[in-house]
Amino acid sequence: MDFDVVVIGGGVGGLASAIRSAELGKKVAIVERDVIGGECVNRACIPSKTLIDAVKLVSRTRKSPWIKANASIDYEILNQHKNKSIEAIRNNLLENLRKHNITVIAGEGKVNEHGEVQVGEKTITFDNLVIATGSSPISLADFPLNGRNVLDPWTAMNLPSLPNSIVIVGGGVAGVELATLFRALGKEVTILELMPQLLPGFDKDIASETKKRLEENGVKIYLQAKSKIVDSKDKVKFSVSLPSSSETVEGDLAVITIGRKANNDNLGLNNLKVETDQRGYIKVDGRTRTSNSRVYAVGDCAGMPLSATKAWKQGIVAGDNIGGKDSVMPKYIPISIFADLEIGLVGKSLDDVKKEGVEATEVKVEMREIPRAWTVNETEGFLKVVVDKEGKILGAHMIGEGATEIINTMALAMEGNLTMKELYKVSFSHPTLTEVISEVAQRFYHGELY
Ligand SMILES: Cc1cc2nc3c(=O)[nH]c(=O)nc-3n(C[C@H](O)[C@H](O)[C@H](O)COP(=O)(O)OP(=O)(O)OC[C@H]3O[C@@H](n4cnc5c(N)ncnc54)[C@H](O)[C@@H]3O)c2cc1C
Repeated sequence: MDFDVVVIGGGVGGLASAIRSAELGKKVAIVERDVIGGECVNRACIPSKTLIDAVKLVSRTRKSPWIKANASIDYEILNQHKNKSIEAIRNNLLENLRKHNITVIAGEGKVNEHGEVQVGEKTITFDNLVIATGSSPISLADFPLNGRNVLDPWTAMNLPSLPNSIVIVGGGVAGVELATLFRALGKEVTILELMPQLLPGFDKDIASETKKRLEENGVKIYLQAKSKIVDSKDKVKFSVSLPSSSETVEGDLAVITIGRKANNDNLGLNNLKVETDQRGYIKVDGRTRTSNSRVYAVGDCAGMPLSATKAWKQGIVAGDNIGGKDSVMPKYIPISIFADLEIGLVGKSLDDVKKEGVEATEVKVEMREIPRAWTVNETEGFLKVVVDKEGKILGAHMIGEGATEIINTMALAMEGNLTMKELYKVSFSHPTLTEVISEVAQRFYHGELY
């Protein structure tokens, strides 16, 4: 055997599985056709959040008349800062691979008919294989990507400069984050969403609060908009069919946030009898094991949710199991959206729970009731916690400053099976935004403290 473990794909999922199995004493190789760090580090989470954090700082400064500064973004310098951050994170990861004696093999990996990994002319044998090849945007018939003015999100984010008007197709997580970014950079932004709600599938109050905030900032949002590109020679023109009218919408640039597929084509999965679902994602169990018990799959290539949050965790779980430590995926994977008003959620909404016939209630605290929200000058938003009659926490949904951090505390409580009674006992540092959690517990049992 050349290696105990071969990992195909050096994104966050692949890296986590490689490092974890090496920590547990395995001899590991990772095959990467592009750069270590994958989509999250190089093109998605890290670059998008660097840009969004910068524009949020500017808008917060503008909303604070007591700060005397004429804040604005220099996109070129911001891009340099973004590239520096990416490089620093990537170098740390590379250092970690070196520290664990993980061999990095450059090239396109696939499984040959003998069940070995093939990289160019080289064949590599293994005990365990981890597939961590990620996913890619696809060009849809109604929104054909052209590399010029109809782009996928990361290509758009990496343009040296942005044109004046931008139409975003899809009002999901990526659509909302990009709208936040582009609008704060002073662009005219339109979102076209097919469903009746922005952020389809999310708690409806969070979706409507997000819509309100984006519209207040000048983003135009069309819901129930059945659209398609009719011309992209110069400007990009869309025909948009709405419930009671039809319109033409146009922009200098279109960013298509819908449509992705697993990077599993040409991988030779059949040679190892690894099964995929109808959409082409690899089927895995809670230990990230595929239909072939020697093969694991982690991250986007293993299906929903397509998030780095899930990819990291699946990587660790795969590494644990390969290294002989029984490990299963957590019950809850939090989701964060880095919009103008941040969003964090974990678990189920009250509507979901009711559909399942579970008796539950929802405790809601507005952020304007939390003292810290006033000191940071961001009082919009709320935390809603879904609780059953025994006090078990079934879900938490937050919009507001700090939501992407606070939601991790709720995930911790839920994963640890803490009830509201136990949360009620905890002392939360004051004044902090996280105090919203203690106020929820206070209200569940008694009444308002704040
Ligand atoms: C704009 C944007 C913003 C996002 N922001 C967030 C966020 O804030 N939080 C979050 O949790 N998620 C976010 N995501 C999602 C996140 O980026 C992905 O879910 C995550 O990167 C998936 O990790 P992965 O390891 O599965 O795949 P990837 O990161 O895609 O890595 C796969 C790697 O495999 C390599 N590869 C593929 N095939 C082969 C092959 N045959 N041989 C060798 N190498 C191969 C690729 O080159 C790549 O490096 C965002 C996505 C986008 C588009």
